[in-house]
Amino acid sequence: MSTVILVSKITCPNCGHQKEEQMPTDACQYFYQCDHCKEVLKPKLGDCCVFCSYATVPCPPIQEGSSCCG
Ligand SMILES: [Zn+2]
Repeated sequence: MSTVILVSKITCPNCGHQKEEQMPTDACQYFYQCDHCKEVLKPKLGDCCVFCSYATVPCPPIQEGSSCCG
């Protein structure tokens, strides 16, 4: 059994602001608004969610070895 981490520290690529966020286990978070500069982040090409692109820990489905959005 693997332990899935549900808190990930996301780093804004626009201003460098970091914040720990709780990740949803049943859905991908495609948009994320930075607390600091209010930039709305979207995943990089090939990534399923903002956590995979900008955070320290990828989203739960990726941690479990599957892809979440097909
Ligand atoms: Zn920002």
